[in-house]
Amino acid sequence: MISAKLYIQGEWRESESDRRGERYNPAHLEELVGTYEVATIQETEEAVLSASKALKRWKMKAGPERGEYLFKAAQLLEHNGKELACLITSEVGKPFGEAMGEVKRGVALLRYYAGEGMRALGEVYPASDGPSLLYSNRVPLGVVGIITPWNFPVAIPLWKIAPALIYGNTVIWKPAEHSSLTAYRLMQLLEQAGFPPGVIQFVTGIGSEVGHTVINHPSINGISFTGSNHVGKQIAKAAVERGVKYQLEMGGKNPTIVAADAHLEQAAEMTVSAAMRFSGQKCTATSRVIVERAVLEPFTKLLVDKVKGIKVSDPMQADCFLGPVVHPSAQADILSAIQQGVNEGARIRAGGSLSSELSEGCYVNPTVLDHVKPDSDLARKEIFGPVLAIIPADDFQHAIAIANDSQYGLSAAIFTSDIDRMLSFLKHIEAGLIKVNGETAGVEPHAPFGGMKQSSSHSREQGRAAIEFYTSVQTIVISPAGKSLEEAEA
Ligand code: NAD
Repeated sequence: MISAKLYIQGEWRESESDRRGERYNPAHLEELVGTYEVATIQETEEAVLSASKALKRWKMKAGPERGEYLFKAAQLLEHNGKELACLITSEVGKPFGEAMGEVKRGVALLRYYAGEGMRALGEVYPASDGPSLLYSNRVPLGVVGIITPWNFPVAIPLWKIAPALIYGNTVIWKPAEHSSLTAYRLMQLLEQAGFPPGVIQFVTGIGSEVGHTVINHPSINGISFTGSNHVGKQIAKAAVERGVKYQLEMGGKNPTIVAADAHLEQAAEMTVSAAMRFSGQKCTATSRVIVERAVLEPFTKLLVDKVKGIKVSDPMQADCFLGPVVHPSAQADILSAIQQGVNEGARIRAGGSLSSELSEGCYVNPTVLDHVKPDSDLARKEIFGPVLAIIPADDFQHAIAIANDSQYGLSAAIFTSDIDRMLSFLKHIEAGLIKVNGETAGVEPHAPFGGMKQSSSHSREQGRAAIEFYTSVQTIVISPAGKSLEEAEA
């Protein structure tokens, strides 16, 4: 059993509070995977101040030297990948195969940002007064608060922490309660990579206490958050109040359009994968499939047959497609959203219930509903579970209008073989991640990622895009000392 600690000022420690959080395996609720510390407000403040103290020396290090720590962390993560993937599966119920994929992505992210330490940070411009040197440089923000969700407990923290560190910031990291043990193990690997004390702080606990303290602390110079819209809005308000740079990636209600000319077998296969893998708990999961009426019947049949064929299984099994959801409260919320959909007039075509064979865990059968009205809660609210709504569209333009009729704009997909439909979709769809004949879920680690509308604060993460958030641009002019322009030119 894991007993996760806090990591402050280069030391592992227990909280002075007498509170501990517990993590039970969502696949076997009787199994206690471990406990984590519930940090106090004072401990959180101490962590912020420690990151503040470490900043001066860390930002003075050369980029390639900072990169060496990240290369070492990548090596350690790769070496311990299988063990960490097992922990992800035990703690949040992610199928083991997908957990291994996430760890590999974490390794790629660390290597990518280690390399960033050797790349240019600015540009030189022609100065209007000849001999002067005019250039831009990027400098770190300072101390960055990083607040992460539970569904990608390795990849999301790393795509924030690695760029923060490589560009010279120090970090205080608050992981989600549901993934505190995985976060602790990842933090242990980062510690073994040898970062100087204070460069990364790790504080677990309650979001409204630890997270709240981080976002409101006067020594925090930037906040990067991924999670729900409800919390994201509070962060935006706190950051604007203090004039602090912030970045939010939040929820989605991602549409897939199946056009009348789509390859229906491919569309059904990929829509099921995007909607149901990891029990629909990816922010980019498909939750609405909008189908042109001309192919509604054959597509629905293909889709429903495939969903009925999914075997719900223990996530440790190598071929698991759909395991449990993260927590009994999530299970209850998902079932209640399905019931609400039925109350609104939708019809269950597959699933809609708990798994009867796997009653020891938080399993929800993969669920498909049709007769879904575009303005119903089922079509509008994020459910974050294995639930897919089929919405008919009269024609292609109507399908795009339904897809865009949402407060969210994270990812979207279309299945078509018609170039005009594809081009029209690309022109009009309101989403940050767009796939043509592909799943709404799935992100490359080196390409920009983020949403539109209420899914995001409109910044982007990953790849070169991260430099925009984790640095400030300074414009610098250096002129010759003590000489007139004419003398300098001579
Ligand atoms: P959540 O908002 O409940 O929690 C996210 C983090 O915020 C946690 O670390 C939590 O402790 C912290 N927190 C809670 N209250 C806080 C407060 N008052 N002040 C500061 N921090 C606080 O989200 P979750 O349940 O962990 O994750 C699921 C959500 O995340 C879904 O909405 C999903 O769509 C979204 N998500 C988005 C992306 C993306 O890139 N767009 C990726 C993954 C998940």
